[in-house]
Amino acid sequence: MHKSTFDILRCPYCGSRLDLVTSSFHEQQGDEIQTGVLGCQCCVFPVVDGIPVMHLQPHAVAAKDLIEQRKPVDARRAMFGLDEHPAVAERVDALIASPEATYRSIVEAFGEYLEGGYFLYRFADPTFIVGHALVRAVAGTVLRGGGRAIDIAGGSGHLTRSLMDLSSPAPVLADLYYAKVWLARRFTAPGCEPVCSDGNTPMPFARGVFRFAMCSDAFMYIWTKRQFVLELLRLIDGQRPAAAMISHTHNQCTWTPSHGQPLTPDGYRHLFETLEPRVFGESGLFADVVGGGPLDLSRVDGAKTLEAEQALAIVASTDPRVFTPHPLEPPPSRPAGEFHVNPLYTADAGGGDTVRFRLRFPSDDYEQEYGACRRYLPEAVTIGRADLDAFAAGRVPPGAEDLVRRRVVVDLPRRYGV
Ligand SMILES: [Zn+2]
Repeated sequence: MHKSTFDILRCPYCGSRLDLVTSSFHEQQGDEIQTGVLGCQCCVFPVVDGIPVMHLQPHAVAAKDLIEQRKPVDARRAMFGLDEHPAVAERVDALIASPEATYRSIVEAFGEYLEGGYFLYRFADPTFIVGHALVRAVAGTVLRGGGRAIDIAGGSGHLTRSLMDLSSPAPVLADLYYAKVWLARRFTAPGCEPVCSDGNTPMPFARGVFRFAMCSDAFMYIWTKRQFVLELLRLIDGQRPAAAMISHTHNQCTWTPSHGQPLTPDGYRHLFETLEPRVFGESGLFADVVGGGPLDLSRVDGAKTLEAEQALAIVASTDPRVFTPHPLEPPPSRPAGEFHVNPLYTADAGGGDTVRFRLRFPSDDYEQEYGACRRYLPEAVTIGRADLDAFAAGRVPPGAEDLVRRRVVVDLPRRYGV
């Protein structure tokens, strides 16, 4: 963690500032605290491999004890949940030490001890493309004059990556699952400020230190929803302009896979006691994105429309510029990471100057949950070898912009493992 993070970090329980306990074992490199113990007025928290762990769950307490015993690698194993699985832990530690490691190889080394989901396909799935468009529109508006963003329950940082060039200082990524935050910092969103924290407790940050606070594809799994939303609003309190956003939360009125404990559209609306939000059905936003834009946040979805939606997006802001149509950004001409053919495509065998790719879903479950990607991904596509070489070199060849716009070619983090 960067030392400047002390300015925004607060104990989730007593609310007081934290400080490095210099009498305990600690490791620093310049302004970065790599290992140590942080103290407030009520308790102590470990910093494990540069990530402050701001909760008191058993792994965190064990990790704190191990750091006091000068065992930072064992503390990381405890936070990975691998302290009782030494063979897996050794495999993961060996990979971490290797510059050849990829996101994928580390997730695979964790095996059943890490929920990797369909991460390989994340950057092109329908939930992500709507979340990304919302982030670019809403955060892009309120952070135009500077200011910091936070992605809460952001997992391994796929949407945090969409905030990297908008947030200044760097965005904060908070999630309960230490391993995911760790992967985000190394691969998905390098440069973000990672924090391990529990979404069911008060958030470990000072009031009003962010201009944009978001939570995507996770809110239906939060039990303390009322506290969570009031905390979200506390984080942006007093900032002008500012916005809070919950995207892709499921709807109690309809069934969805991985349902969680969703509320109704009005149930969500009523959580925002101090700032009236707008609730959008995500299918309308998805149609905007697939249709080439604009992403129309001036729309007012009625009760009947919202009832029928599988997923909702909720945006609260005092900035009227947020609730307008937002042109979609053009596809990137240079990758933030590396251009790759979308891993949902398999290449047909054969030589020649072109390669034919076919869409192939990894499982029936994937197709059921994300099959809407057929709206932008063609069943089959032929790409010239020279164009593939240009993409591999980080360039969009002339006339091939549409492949990037349709997510046939995706901009993936370096060393992602595709
Ligand atoms: Zn405290």
